Amino acid sequence: MSNVIVELKHVYKRYGDTEVLKDINIEIEQGKFYTLLGPSGSGKTTILRAIAGFLDVSEGEVFFNGEKINDVPANKRRVNTVFQDYALFPHMNVLDNVAYGLRIQKRPKAEIKERVDKALKMVRLSGYENREISELSGGQQQRVAIARAIVLEPEVLLLDEPLSALDAKLRKDMQYELRELQQRLGITFLFVTHDQEEALALSDEIFVMSDGEVQQSGTPVDIYDEPINHFVADFIGESNIVSGHMVKDFVVEFNGKEFECADAGMRPNEPVEVVLRPEDLDITAVGEGKVTVDVDTQLFRGDYYEIVAYDDAKNEWLIHSTNPAKDGDRVDLTFDPEDIHVMRLNESEEDFDARLESYEGE
Ligand code: ADP
Ligand code: MG
Repeated sequence: MSNVIVELKHVYKRYGDTEVLKDINIEIEQGKFYTLLGPSGSGKTTILRAIAGFLDVSEGEVFFNGEKINDVPANKRRVNTVFQDYALFPHMNVLDNVAYGLRIQKRPKAEIKERVDKALKMVRLSGYENREISELSGGQQQRVAIARAIVLEPEVLLLDEPLSALDAKLRKDMQYELRELQQRLGITFLFVTHDQEEALALSDEIFVMSDGEVQQSGTPVDIYDEPINHFVADFIGESNIVSGHMVKDFVVEFNGKEFECADAGMRPNEPVEVVLRPEDLDITAVGEGKVTVDVDTQLFRGDYYEIVAYDDAKNEWLIHSTNPAKDGDRVDLTFDPEDIHVMRLNESEEDFDARLESYEGE
């Protein structure tokens, strides 16, 4: 039995000549917290709108519980959206905002009251029924928007950057609340954000997007530890990315040296990029480590020192170290074979072959 509740198959969206979604294939299972993560303009909202039924896709299929819903109107889909700007009715109080959808459906009064009470309790706003929207804080307005969506008991809740209007502290609190709420309700959340830390903290699974394409999908740990390409490595967390090539299985060359690594299965001499996370680098005396660098700057970040250093080829290295270094120090960086993450290059098969040939000619 499949738990897949929403599925997009080969979905494209075009506006004139511009392709804003390109061959999107995603599967969303019941009861999990999913995140679409990507920079502004990468197509996140467009995907939500395709699922909610606010736009027609140009090509491809959208399924809900195994049924194709391309032609099902928005109000007949069992999903609800929490919009980026909340889209609350400013002239109505909390109760009327939350009850609105149920009144449209002409539900009996007693049922409306019961469901509104329950929804407000879920978002910890019991007792706020008669407050005007303008009397609420940003965080409270955000919770009204969520209550208004969950009162309709959707099977899937779509949340379009719902925390982006909040200040940093409130945003953190609301992250905990959202995660808890999803677990309590047990429904599927599809959350949109451009904030990688938020995505890593909240999600069961993440779809990393850029330029209308899903670059990588997986658990936060998968994506952080094994970024599939340069874009993902750069976008998710901080990283040092250096070019090199695979000498053979478990041996990669970069910075003019060969290193033991945990990766295999690439073509001999395949050009690659190597990711080393700042927290995986340790500082040691020259001669004892693997890459020699000159320390340029150092910032104390509370639980670590953030050090920027340059190797002899003037490549920049970012290091998070629990030990301080000194500006102008010449030190070695050291790391374990499993800290080296080897990525295939983001390039077409054709460019790849040309590059490989140029390597072999050397
Ligand atoms: P995100 O939510 O990731 O910031 P969107 O899904 O809103 O991105 O937009 C993806 C791309 O589609 C953007 O380049 C945007 O300008 C374009 N786009 C969105 N809606 C329209 C439209 N109605 N007409 C033309 N282009 C659009
Ligand atoms: Mg958007």
